[in-house]
Amino acid sequence: MLPDEVLRRPAALILLQGTRQCGLLFMDSGAAGRAARVREGVRLVRQHLDDHPEMRGGYEAAVRICHIFARPAFYEISDRCNLKCEGCYYFDPATFREGGGHRGRFDSEWDGFLARERSRGVTMPYFLGAEPALEEKRLLVAARYFRRGNLGTNGTVRLDPDIPFRISISAWAAEESDDARLRGGSALRKALRLYQGDNRAIILYTVNPANIDQVPLMARICRDYGLPVTFNLWSPTTSLLGRLKSFTGNDDAFFRISTPEQSLLLSDGDLDRVRDVLAQAMDDFPDTVIYSAAYNRWSTRSGPLYDLDPQTGFAQDCGSRIGGSFKYYGMDLQPQSVKCCTPAVDCQNCRLYSGGWSSQFSPRPEHIATLSGFADWIGMVLTIGRIFLRPETDPEVFGGSSVQGNAMELA
Ligand code: SF4
Ligand code: SF4
Repeated sequence: MLPDEVLRRPAALILLQGTRQCGLLFMDSGAAGRAARVREGVRLVRQHLDDHPEMRGGYEAAVRICHIFARPAFYEISDRCNLKCEGCYYFDPATFREGGGHRGRFDSEWDGFLARERSRGVTMPYFLGAEPALEEKRLLVAARYFRRGNLGTNGTVRLDPDIPFRISISAWAAEESDDARLRGGSALRKALRLYQGDNRAIILYTVNPANIDQVPLMARICRDYGLPVTFNLWSPTTSLLGRLKSFTGNDDAFFRISTPEQSLLLSDGDLDRVRDVLAQAMDDFPDTVIYSAAYNRWSTRSGPLYDLDPQTGFAQDCGSRIGGSFKYYGMDLQPQSVKCCTPAVDCQNCRLYSGGWSSQFSPRPEHIATLSGFADWIGMVLTIGRIFLRPETDPEVFGGSSVQGNAMELA
């Protein structure tokens, strides 16, 4: 059965099962021409695999990863945090809704809710909020229903070893003074101590103009602490852009340090630097950095990454858009009608890793048309697996060199 969140997307990826030859098909809303495009897509994929059988292992691992992410869901489990990161999208004044009123109800209904979610066939739960690690009991309950999952945390709370999920620990600077300045409190050193060598953990370094040069130091630190590192590109909320445009001063919360003259917005020149620095880090720390050269090129190109709806300004082709069976539940445990899991962020300027990576499941025409494009696509999907999954839960994703994300890239 094909998941409807796949079917509803234009140019969606469809995985044909039941034969040894899986295929990638493109769909669009019109029937005309679809069959021809499907046939041509399948023919090209088969040709790539026949001509280069050494790619088959990576391709089949990529197909498995697509299945794992076929039915994701977002669960907001916390509306509290112990930090004040500049421009935090969770506490953005335009979208933040305190869930405190639902606290008792949440805890009494969470167990049964998760049972229903598991029955619904959710394959990849994401636990988020403000700081999910402040709600450890809720995560322990979730562990009874899902063996696989992902949570984003600032790493300042050590989570119970019985929580089996991938733990993405956000980092904003390698230098302690910048860490404290950008986040309203020092977090990285504590997170490193708490999660040293923990196989669940991956460091997610949010790159901004002020910390690009600290990428090599960050990679070195992660290597020394036995933690992989990957990257996110800082992206502004619509409110923050408005406050920069009509600047009337800072506050003492999530808009402490940005000014029209000096903010965390990435200029085209910054993006060029990011591309170079991240590519170098991949070369210098191949056992520590989990990233993709193809994704690095795509995510640092100038201008919007997505096709924007002229009316709403929303990214129409972003893989993080909520819809169909792809749901986002708020603290009232009800599905929310939000555009994505970071609704405060401005789509035109969005380079967040969540939207970016989830947009790679559907290959674009250039990923099918040429062998190098196809290798890029496989490499990106394998990288998604290594970022969001755990070696213990999905060992095939972390297998030998034939399925290493970066190794698939021919370019
Ligand atoms: S860690 Fe930072 S970005 Fe995340 S919720 Fe807390 S303040 Fe916001
Ligand atoms: S993740 Fe997608 S939908 Fe959400 S803000 Fe970014 S581009 Fe827009």
